[in-house]
Amino acid sequence: MIVAIDGPAASGKGTLARRLAQHFGLPHLDTGLLYRATARVLIDEGRDFSDVAAAVAAARGLALIDFDEKLLRGPEMGEAASRVAAIPEVREALVESQRAFARRPGGAILDGRDIGTIICPDADVKIFVTATPETRATRRALELKGQGAKVDYAAVLEDIRKRDERDATRSLAPLRAAEDAEILDTTKLDVEASFKAALDIVEKKILVPKVHARDAGPA
Ligand code: C5P
Repeated sequence: MIVAIDGPAASGKGTLARRLAQHFGLPHLDTGLLYRATARVLIDEGRDFSDVAAAVAAARGLALIDFDEKLLRGPEMGEAASRVAAIPEVREALVESQRAFARRPGGAILDGRDIGTIICPDADVKIFVTATPETRATRRALELKGQGAKVDYAAVLEDIRKRDERDATRSLAPLRAAEDAEILDTTKLDVEASFKAALDIVEKKILVPKVHARDAGPA
């Protein structure tokens, strides 16, 4: 079973994907980390984000050593990731490794911006997780405060709006829900209720074909 989870920054898609992966015992790939790690390599090498050849080389050359989450998780790396993610050649360089992950025996859960539309258009389940920018900014601000950071809510909201705009308007693989995705608006849901709603979507999708198969069987 392949589950594609997409949505804007701080929508909670990562938490949902991790919980679903745990629940179903499936491997999980947070594809945002690929773009964050690519941006990090460019920064560490002192390269400009407009250097397409260097960005593609960074994306192609990613190794496990580049995935130190402590270095990649901050909001400034989210902003940097969204800039390299707008380079079509970088996206192309990262397509095959994401598809290979999805093809694992037994399936996988991938979360990102274009999983249901570009990476796994045939995914068994597609969920587009969303929430208002204000709700997402509040959650992100609380998370940062919890990590001991000094937080300016207006700046967090501005960062989220800017990233939404860039992710939704880029030429290749813009952020949008696949036509066959279920929309999960978590604005009024806490983590537990969001997980239950997501689980419900997955179970309905995977149970329905089984019921049909049984009904279609010999009497
Ligand atoms: O999900 P996360 O916030 O880690 O993603 C960081 C940035 O990487 C996003 O703002 C987006 O621009 C980019 N991204 C993408 N496609 C994906 C995952 C992330 O363009 N599948």
